[in-house]
Amino acid sequence: MSFLETIRGMKFFDMHVHMTSRTTDDYQAMADAGIVALIEPAFWLGQPRTGVDSFRDYFASLVGWERFRALQFGIRHYCTIGLNSKEANNEALAEQVMEILPLFLYKEGVVGVGEIGFDDQTPAEEKYYRAQLDLAREANLPVQIHTPHRDKKQGTSRSMDIALEHGLAPGMVIVDHNNEETVKEVLDRGFWAGFTIYPFTKMGNERMVEVVRQYGPERIMVNSAADWGISDPLAVPKTAALMKERGISEEAIRLVTFQNALTAFGQSGQVSAEDLEQPIDIDQSQRYNGSSVLRGGQAPRVDKASTIIK
Ligand SMILES: [Zn+2]
Repeated sequence: MSFLETIRGMKFFDMHVHMTSRTTDDYQAMADAGIVALIEPAFWLGQPRTGVDSFRDYFASLVGWERFRALQFGIRHYCTIGLNSKEANNEALAEQVMEILPLFLYKEGVVGVGEIGFDDQTPAEEKYYRAQLDLAREANLPVQIHTPHRDKKQGTSRSMDIALEHGLAPGMVIVDHNNEETVKEVLDRGFWAGFTIYPFTKMGNERMVEVVRQYGPERIMVNSAADWGISDPLAVPKTAALMKERGISEEAIRLVTFQNALTAFGQSGQVSAEDLEQPIDIDQSQRYNGSSVLRGGQAPRVDKASTIIK
């Protein structure tokens, strides 16, 4: 039985996925699997940017073209805007990025400041993490924290300490990329705990099932963090299917794959249950600044099971 049959009728919110790096096939597969909304955090491109204008264009695409592109597949696209931790280490450029962040944080569909935090845990990363926490507090926006892959436990604790120092309520902070070592402290301190399902390494979804079994579904949420690397944009629906097969209740699954993300990021005032209920009129011939997702003369939907490419 396909996992799609296991989760038929369920809907999902992937609260961390970098769609700019993904294809229209991914969008179609996500829509077919029940993903109705997603959050695209601003991050790095796999190589460092050389000027502030590439940040400006990237942020503009997150609130513009990518948002439009998702809607053509029936998926609502939200984003978080911020200076990622890796590029915070280029201080001359980081200063310029800080200047333009307020131009984007108040735009429609921006549900938080993110993904920000620590990578190598350098002084420059801390400086711009702190500065962006202040921006989030001023804008009354949730914060999406990227926790470091190296020295994770200590980096996660420190990220939370600093957020509290800057006056953020734990309920306004989503700490992402958790694992079994970090989750207890994050939940005990009242923060939201995001989990990224990484294929082949780190956090596989069997481990995720056990985390939910042990800690329950409160304040836990699952994401794919799919990007330009080896990753799976269907990680959320697949994890839901596995949870169902392994006896996790449907209500718990709903919380960790949909509702908790909506509740946490809904505090931005930019996304609500009512918004997600509104029907989307999918017309792939629509244009955004003159561009559509179709190439000359294409029909809007493709029968993916057919070997014939029309
Ligand atoms: Zn990311």
